[in-house]
Amino acid sequence: MKLKSLEISGFKSFADKTIIEFMPGMTGIVGPNGSGKSNIIEAIRWVMGEQSAKDLRGTKMSDVIFGGTNKRNALNRSEVSMTFDNSDRYVKSEFNEIRITRKLYRSGESTYQINGVDSRLRDIHELFMDTGLGRESFSIISQGRVEGIFNAKPEERRGIIEEVAGVYKYKQNKERAQKE
Ligand code: ATP
Ligand code: MG
Repeated sequence: MKLKSLEISGFKSFADKTIIEFMPGMTGIVGPNGSGKSNIIEAIRWVMGEQSAKDLRGTKMSDVIFGGTNKRNALNRSEVSMTFDNSDRYVKSEFNEIRITRKLYRSGESTYQINGVDSRLRDIHELFMDTGLGRESFSIISQGRVEGIFNAKPEERRGIIEEVAGVYKYKQNKERAQKE
């Protein structure tokens, strides 16, 4: 499964619609301090369902919406879409391409979509759980997170390994079933 593109609009410093196309091979994102490199990684985490404003370096979730500069007014909506090539059926879906979208308005309204269809956060999580791409997986290690993984409690570290190994989904389903 390959990441094809990322579309960011109104998220953090990306006021205008910005499309990043990922070419085959490795992609490096370079730029001066404060130019938005970490914001790109956070856009990826956000569209995949990140729920912690703090982990996105904010205090409330609406902090991800472009807050304006001295030249430009704040925006009312943040939108991020990420498109994967799924022709190898890495993710259990009939689609060759999977596009997930998350939107958040200042009013608090929030939506997720999978290939244009309104979805629940849980659907997004299930899609990516056990692909090694989950929020807590090793695939995304942000500034400071390496240390976090080393300092994690053994149970937390086990959770990360279980997600990468592909058993986490079953554990979650079991826990949910036990609660219901
Ligand atoms: P470094 O090399 O220092 O790690 P970076 O390229 O990772 O820098 P980021 O941390 O991604 O940079 O970007 C920080 C910039 O994003 C800051 O200028 C900050 O003001 C801006 N920013 C963050 N949130 C918002 C927001 N909601 N609205 C507008 N700008 C924002
Ligand atoms: Mg950074």
